[in-house]
Amino acid sequence: MIEFERISKEYADGTVAVDDVSFEIPAGETVTIVGPSGCGKTTTMKMINGLINPTEGTIHINGTPLIERDPIEHRRNIGYVIQDIGLFSHLTIRENIGIVPDISGWDGDQIDKRVKELVELVRLPPTVTDNYPDELSGGQQQRVGVARALAANPDVLLMDEPFGALDPITREQLQDEFLDIQRDLDVTIAFVTHDIDEALKMGDHVAVMHDGKLVQFDTPQELLSNP
Ligand code: ADP
Ligand code: ADP
Repeated sequence: MIEFERISKEYADGTVAVDDVSFEIPAGETVTIVGPSGCGKTTTMKMINGLINPTEGTIHINGTPLIERDPIEHRRNIGYVIQDIGLFSHLTIRENIGIVPDISGWDGDQIDKRVKELVELVRLPPTVTDNYPDELSGGQQQRVGVARALAANPDVLLMDEPFGALDPITREQLQDEFLDIQRDLDVTIAFVTHDIDEALKMGDHVAVMHDGKLVQFDTPQELLSNP
């Protein structure tokens, strides 16, 4: 569970990127965070990731204040999927997916087993593990990005415009697949998008941000009946 309690973030230059925001993401749920460019979405994600600290308020993760969590452990408990993928081009798909388990000290057999499971989960052909990222299509690379983020069984998954760089047909396909995958995952998800349709489709709740403020927090059904 992720709890934001009266969180604000003011950058050094005086910009208030997030302004007195409170919400919670119950364990196993997905909250989509939607709003125009500059409304504070990335700042919110960076605070959950522990890359930056709020200037006011306390973020709790599974009941513990984030600042009391060991930063390295915390980041290993968070999977991160971003728009421009960021796969390591000189590493194979197996090595890319296995990187976090590897740095966490898993042994080779364990990593191979996990990589195999994940490749199946994200619906890639098993042979793909020996390929390099630039031998895959954009949609396939993004599937690898999802697999990598899930590799070490994180409690929290952060998705920042994960399908934003894909063509509309591939995007819809990955959205549908991810909805399906998500049902079997025991992971709490914050999903950033500027696309309201995607926010309504992917979220159990939708957090609408504007100018650093949380202006609405509702289920997709509530939002549609009360826009
Ligand atoms: P979004 O992800 O919704 O586009 P951001 O969280 O990136 O929004 O930015 C929110 C506001 O904070 C914007 O006005 C942006 O210009 C500002 N901002 C982001 N990062 C910094 C920074 N490091 N220093 C100062 N202002 C920043
Ligand atoms: P770094 O060397 O930047 O600390 P890691 O070696 O921990 O990154 O993870 C390798 C890659 O896995 C990162 O480049 C990133 O794409 C992804 N990743 C996994 N978990 C996180 C996280 N919590 N924050 C950012 N990136 C992560």
